[in-house]
Amino acid sequence: MTIHYCAICKIFSFLSFIIIITLCQPAFSQQVKKKHRHKKAPAANSAAPAFKFKTIIIDPGHGGKDPGAHGAWSKEKNVTLTIAKKLRAALNEQMPSLNTVMTRTTDEFIELHRRDAIASEHKGNLFISIHCNASPEKVSTERGVLLLVYGYHRASEQFEALRENASIFIEKDYKTKYNGYGENSAINTIVLSNFQQKYRKECIHFADLVNHEFKKEDGRHSLGVKEQGVLVLQQSAMPAVLIETGFINNPKDEAYLNSAEGQSEIVQSIIRALKKYRESFEQNR
Ligand SMILES: [Zn+2]
Repeated sequence: MTIHYCAICKIFSFLSFIIIITLCQPAFSQQVKKKHRHKKAPAANSAAPAFKFKTIIIDPGHGGKDPGAHGAWSKEKNVTLTIAKKLRAALNEQMPSLNTVMTRTTDEFIELHRRDAIASEHKGNLFISIHCNASPEKVSTERGVLLLVYGYHRASEQFEALRENASIFIEKDYKTKYNGYGENSAINTIVLSNFQQKYRKECIHFADLVNHEFKKEDGRHSLGVKEQGVLVLQQSAMPAVLIETGFINNPKDEAYLNSAEGQSEIVQSIIRALKKYRESFEQNR
């Protein structure tokens, strides 16, 4: 049987079709949008935890048979260990989600390359080496803080690095371990390896943050952030900064470095900088 539609019926059916399509469209497009949102959300969440800032390596400079610099009545190796221990205790209390690893906890001699190995074994996110500065004269008129990062440098402009690197001369086979580094062959290379270049910006960023806290919050005099050929920073497979906390052979700085108040100020400045650094570290990943 054949059904014949009249013209009016055909127009009516066509109009009904258009109305149904128009009414259904918003619901359809919303469903598509919802599907889209569902797809995107888990991707953003799953990317975040992979780059957590988890482990910090605290390296108290010198130790054992290597006393480092000395002032009128105190030695660098003891000051650095005390500050490092206080930093670890304060971090465990104020940033409990962080793991803290120390390269030494007693008065012992640890070779420079071993300090880097400890940092790598624990997969640190940041290496902080604590030191005290000293000028060549017996009593220093120079004072204040200095931040060192490994980077572009001239052999003639790295007095602090040469002093800190001198620890290797009491190590056995230092020439083999440190690629022929010798007393008369100051590092003068300005060619950085790939990973040194990769971490250079992050090192400078953290050093700037610490320097800012020392100056702004503690009113310390600062010699700024410098790039030098510091061996203990060179081999580290993570961003690494050496903090010269003050001149141990300046009478005022020596008193400050050995005082509970001075040590607490230094520790709290490092922690404030760390909190800011962790924030930017996790945001930029
Ligand atoms: Zn030192």
